Amino acid sequence: MDELDAPLSSRLTAPSAALLAKELGLETVRDLLWHLPRRYAERGQLTPIRQLTAGDDVTIVAQVVRTSPPRRMRNRDGALMQVTLGDGRDTVGLTFFARSVRQFAHHERQLREGRQVLASGRVEVFNGAWQLARPDYQPLDDGSEDAAALADRPIPLYPATGKAPSWKIAKAVQTVLGVTGQVPDVLPGEVVAQAGLLDPLAALRAVHTPRDRADVARGQRRLRYEEAFVLQTALAQRRASSARERAVPRVRRPDGLAAAFDARLPFPLTGAQARVGEEIAADLARAQPMQRLLQGDVGSGKTLVALRAMLTVVDGGGQAALLAPTEVLAAQHLRSTTAALGDLAAGGLLGGHELATRVVLLTGSMGAAARREALLAAASGEAGIVIGTHALLEEHVRFADLGLVVVDEQHRFGVEQRDALRAKAASVPHLLVMTATPIPRTVAMTVFGDLETSVLDELPPGRAEVTTVAVPMQNEAWVDRVWRRVAEEAALGRQAYVVCARIDGDDAGKEPDDGGGDEPPPDDGEKRRPPLAVSDVVEIVRRHPATAHLRIEVLHGRLAPADKDDVMRRFAAGEVDVVVSTTVVEVGVDVPNASVMVVVDADRFGVSQLHQLRGRIGRGGLPGTCLLMTEVAEGSPAGQRLSALVATRDGFELARLDLEQRREGDVLGAAQSGRRSSLRLLGVLKDADVIADARAAASALVADDPDLARHPALAAAVADRVSGETERFLERA
Ligand code: ADP
Ligand code: MG
Repeated sequence: MDELDAPLSSRLTAPSAALLAKELGLETVRDLLWHLPRRYAERGQLTPIRQLTAGDDVTIVAQVVRTSPPRRMRNRDGALMQVTLGDGRDTVGLTFFARSVRQFAHHERQLREGRQVLASGRVEVFNGAWQLARPDYQPLDDGSEDAAALADRPIPLYPATGKAPSWKIAKAVQTVLGVTGQVPDVLPGEVVAQAGLLDPLAALRAVHTPRDRADVARGQRRLRYEEAFVLQTALAQRRASSARERAVPRVRRPDGLAAAFDARLPFPLTGAQARVGEEIAADLARAQPMQRLLQGDVGSGKTLVALRAMLTVVDGGGQAALLAPTEVLAAQHLRSTTAALGDLAAGGLLGGHELATRVVLLTGSMGAAARREALLAAASGEAGIVIGTHALLEEHVRFADLGLVVVDEQHRFGVEQRDALRAKAASVPHLLVMTATPIPRTVAMTVFGDLETSVLDELPPGRAEVTTVAVPMQNEAWVDRVWRRVAEEAALGRQAYVVCARIDGDDAGKEPDDGGGDEPPPDDGEKRRPPLAVSDVVEIVRRHPATAHLRIEVLHGRLAPADKDDVMRRFAAGEVDVVVSTTVVEVGVDVPNASVMVVVDADRFGVSQLHQLRGRIGRGGLPGTCLLMTEVAEGSPAGQRLSALVATRDGFELARLDLEQRREGDVLGAAQSGRRSSLRLLGVLKDADVIADARAAASALVADDPDLARHPALAAAVADRVSGETERFLERA
């Protein structure tokens, strides 16, 4: 058996092992050695107390400022002793309790004024002062020789609990490291040599018991590389296995439906659309399934690229499925596809083009009769294009010959859903995944490492100006001006969106099936009033003298799907002037006549969300106005987000800001909810070079040893990783 799999009870005292198991779930030597320090402290570098957050469990370096003599409690049995720690500027209190005053002798000896300690506890505010509740501490300099030798060393701070404070964990780690002879390496020797990495045991020593910061860096580099390598090996295997899969080649035909469609396009393709179109056509013509991610900013014309691919597949005798994240969007895709195709979509109907196919919609909310018909059209092959929501994934949905799956705005679909659709085809269908969220290259390599990437880096010409203004909500005159602006546009025959952060008083701000989606509302750590709801704002707009006469409707995820679709359809047809909604309009909605986007409490939205919302206007060649209403100050994090939106419309630029403001763990979550970050050490942004290196090395290794038969330790690590991912997925489901 691997030494790392030994139970901790074989290395530590029974109480220590039990404590680590109970408090932190650490059972084996491996568990403990991979319980890595979260940060490092240094003697002499006091932790800034003002940066503490109430409710957090913390470990800080601080100096004893004052120790008040122990005293008996007035109203109860027992005694207490109070100690004040400081960082030279602010202070934090510790209170110890005991049965009698005499029992504090130990604390009094240890906590003499002026001494530095490592202290831990939960941050609380008590009588207006900072406290560490249930405190524990460890003197940093106890005058012993040992301590002097250790004086310059970084102090590892572990994820800890009240009962298992950081220094107890450190002690246990040291004990275990001291008797660990060897740690099998999952990395092949060549890779270790080439990348100049420490061996695993040396790396673990370096991060747990560093002599200096350079040690920490060397150790972490090895562990990061290892993590990246295991992940990239798993992805390389996935790529290799899909390269072995067979798909039906769908070759472009000069006399087909796709060619007929191209011939009647009212505008030329952008250069980027043409280029990506060629990439996709080449993929579709191959006998391996296409696995392609199409990135393009809002309005770059992804839908057209997808439609041309779908028509090529129909020409090749197959069917295409288009999967949309919401019913609103699926319905819109049906409308716009049918309109764009004209008589080319009138297959089986009188007056249909001779090459024509049928386009059908399949969503969860359809009536039984319509649903039965759509199912039949898909199963018989009569429908060349089937557009739908998650309902397409259900088991009883069958296709005659599914050749292509297009996933629109993919971040709402995980790998498992992709696989569910692929399972519906006799041979593996081609796959095109589209996203408007610009994804940095390394994130794409990490999260979508099994997909090829195409980028639409060019917007169609004639994109109108959109003016973006941040409007202070406290200023009545400005707010008044917002509604007048909406009215002015309506008077010109144009339309407006008004978007709110929640539906009404009693929702938590989440839209179950709609655009509200995956992006967590930004948490800027400030306490604010709840955001105005659709139900509040629609009343304001209905009563305001400027807008009261307009045709106003609401749209949100709690409406019946038929009503939602009806509002959206009437808005698209120009029969509604103002739609007050949640972020259900965020993704992909296309109404060219809409020229105003008002976002109420804009600070409650993330950058990409706001960018998506703004992308809804300025589409039909009409200049647009985007009004971001907010109460926050300009310099706050939320204020900075809004300033950035005012300053630029470049989606990639904004994505960079967004990523900077998010915590690392959220980055992957935003990119794809189906694979929330489970990275331990690796930062997809800051470790770009490590990821790229590891990817190249892992690809080479998998090409040489596809089943990892000659790399058993690596094979085990990959298996462990993959099963971990699946478990995490199941936990969420
Ligand atoms: P997105 O990439 O955000 O999904 P859409 O596919 O919705 O963008 O396209 C935005 C708008 O641009 C649509 O109205 C579409 O008809 C139009 N469009 C697409 N390609 C072109 C082009 N090459 N020239 C002009 N307009 C185009
Ligand atoms: Mg779109």
